[in-house]
Amino acid sequence: DSVFANVVRAPEDPILGVTVAYNKDPSPVKLNLGVGAYRTEEGKPLVLNVVRKAEQLLVNDRSRVKEYLPIVGLADFNKLSAKLLLGADSPAIQGNLVTTVQCLSGTGSLRVGAEFLARNYHQRTIYIPNPTWGNHTKIFTLAGLNVKSYRYYDPVTRGLNIQGLLEDLGSAPSGAIVLLHACAHNPTGVDPTIQQWEQIRRLIRSKSLLPFFDSAYQGFASGSLDGDAQSVRMFVGDGGECFIAQSYAKNMGLYGERVGALSIVCRTADVASRVESQLKLVIRPMYSNPPIHGASIVATVLKDRNLFHEWTLELKAMADRIITMRQQLFDALRARGTPGDWSHIIKQIGMFTFTGLNSKQVTFMTKEYHIYMTSDGRISMAGLSSRTVPHLADAIHAAVT
Ligand code: PMP
Repeated sequence: DSVFANVVRAPEDPILGVTVAYNKDPSPVKLNLGVGAYRTEEGKPLVLNVVRKAEQLLVNDRSRVKEYLPIVGLADFNKLSAKLLLGADSPAIQGNLVTTVQCLSGTGSLRVGAEFLARNYHQRTIYIPNPTWGNHTKIFTLAGLNVKSYRYYDPVTRGLNIQGLLEDLGSAPSGAIVLLHACAHNPTGVDPTIQQWEQIRRLIRSKSLLPFFDSAYQGFASGSLDGDAQSVRMFVGDGGECFIAQSYAKNMGLYGERVGALSIVCRTADVASRVESQLKLVIRPMYSNPPIHGASIVATVLKDRNLFHEWTLELKAMADRIITMRQQLFDALRARGTPGDWSHIIKQIGMFTFTGLNSKQVTFMTKEYHIYMTSDGRISMAGLSSRTVPHLADAIHAAVT
């Protein structure tokens, strides 16, 4: 008998499991709106032109070798990533208040930040929004933090519950860590306005809470890299401390390259350098040092003026296609006279629409229409095209009538 005979079968991941189910469905009209990856109007994955160009430059450069990177990753990549996030003229960067380490995409950046906090910070409690990306709870719990939630989404208004949010963070213990989605909140697509961000910032600073931003969609939400970084820059601008996990999965389409960064903004350059020394102690026994290829692509794009400009255009085109899909879906439901107010589809921001469909309706749509999505009714707008919008609208119409 196997020594592992007692191992029980684990459930599929709630998000990635949607794709597993989709792949098993033989229907020609099947539609995968579960996973958060960009698709073209033809339903195909997209490799950005600038990424192809950067890879070509890297291949042609015979001086490049496959040696290990330092524990903290590629120096150029780290510098340019902080600049992209905090702005070219950021006083925090100029004052050497920021330590940036290359990590395994957004997930790895969150995990390294969480492990650092569990070892080096006096408060073990982290508040995450309700709801949030499903992996947050697991990442922070496994790193040794104590996870609590704060009110975020109001199902009645399908908007932000700012009152509940301020109350919950207002009663958090001093020093508690607060996870914030920098933009394009996943799964709700609901972001605070600039005025609301300012309220949140003031409360967080007055209670000495520690903000930890998850920035997985910079530029992908609005089409503007600076616009989508505004929330983070407000917090860094006030001189307080701040964590940011950055991902290039969506905005540069580098999903499988696993390229991202953790930045920690400190009050002094001396603290920042000591913090970095501790980050190395977290990383070294976990995976030693990060992979070189994806970070080299990003650095190549970010440091070349022409490539950078071309990237912003391609990024804007992706964001715009998603915004167009919102409008088309909204129009299609209106044309069908589907009962209910569907304006949240065009109001929400980023890759996902939080439809408000319940798990029974989701099951119905999967069974009858071969449309796959997470059971909370979240659909990836990036997985839609003009061709598939009518099918989805038919399914939603049937599910709610
Ligand atoms: N945070 C949020 C909110 C996300 O939506 C995602 C991607 N689904 C991530 C982090 C991390 O993604 P990755 O590790 O692929 O960068």
